[in-house]
Amino acid sequence: MKKDGKCEKQECKCSRIVELADPFPMHMLKIEKIEQENSNVKSFYFRHKLNSQPGQFVMVWLPGNGEKPMSIARDYGDSFQLAIASVGNVSNKLCCAKVGDFVGIRGPLGTYFSLTDDKAKLVKSIALVGGGYGAGPMASLAELAIKKGLKPANIHYIVGARTKDLLLFHKRLEGIGVNVHITTDDGSFGAKGRVIDVLNKVVTDAKKNKIKIDKIYTVGPELMMKAVYDVAMRENIDCEISLERYMKCGIGVCGSCIVDPTGERMCIEGPIIGKEKIKQITEFGKYHRDATGNKVKY
Ligand SMILES: Cc1cc2nc3c(=O)[nH]c(=O)nc-3n(C[C@H](O)[C@H](O)[C@H](O)COP(=O)(O)OP(=O)(O)OC[C@H]3O[C@@H](n4cnc5c(N)ncnc54)[C@H](O)[C@@H]3O)c2cc1C
Repeated sequence: MKKDGKCEKQECKCSRIVELADPFPMHMLKIEKIEQENSNVKSFYFRHKLNSQPGQFVMVWLPGNGEKPMSIARDYGDSFQLAIASVGNVSNKLCCAKVGDFVGIRGPLGTYFSLTDDKAKLVKSIALVGGGYGAGPMASLAELAIKKGLKPANIHYIVGARTKDLLLFHKRLEGIGVNVHITTDDGSFGAKGRVIDVLNKVVTDAKKNKIKIDKIYTVGPELMMKAVYDVAMRENIDCEISLERYMKCGIGVCGSCIVDPTGERMCIEGPIIGKEKIKQITEFGKYHRDATGNKVKY
């Protein structure tokens, strides 16, 4: 094949121009800045136009070590940020990377959060629940909602962690009128308790004031998201979650991230899925599969 895409075989008379452009090109990007967010999470900054939407992810390749999906914590337009927790083989190595090192980035990939209701109308009042690195996409969604015209006072941003040191991005939305609720399990910062207690209170208070929360969004540990989803179902509120599954290719080929019983690939039909899809995925909140495909119970 020639550069212009024309068939170069002499005996071939076809005039078809075949485009073989890689739909998921990898960009080798320099790490521009690193910030220690808490005891085990670092933020990495890259100069690159991603054009991503809140909830999407990129595949991050560390040469010699492997490739992993990472949520986009913040897209600044001409640069973006990833928040990486040091928990295992690849993430530990990524967290040892230095400013000036290069990593491969493919994306943005996957589905993203929608700020419309089932009649395609912009939602008016929302609650966002983030745990761990899920606080990044949730903050991005709150910022997008404001850009799209939602009143900051109608946005509840609930973030939680076990302890103060593990909180992430809690300062990001302060001072712009969003209702920021912070919880820690041990009471070392914000309200003592869990995000689910705050969500229940937000929903109850809204009902008392005759305000309808149109949609609840959540990214974080799966059992936290399951509890959030249960509140949404109980209160008949629309809901979107980020269902993270073990991903190898990130482009729908390998099948590692297929969920039971629908067989949908969470790198393509997810990770962001709505209420109707969640209802069908019976493994949600019960188990996921590891690198070998074996079930791991929550
Ligand atoms: C769509 C998507 C988005 C993601 N976004 C992010 C992100 O923004 N930031 C981020 O740090 N990670 C994110 N992850 C998780 C990430 O892709 C890896 O799974 C994680 O970094 C572990 O890979 P590893 O090779 O370091 O650990 P492995 O060697 O694969 O795992 C080591 C051990 O850590 C456990 N483990 C895996 N992930 C976690 C976790 N998050 N917390 C606690 N224990 C864990 C495993 O069960 C295993 O026991 C995302 C995953 C998906 C599917």
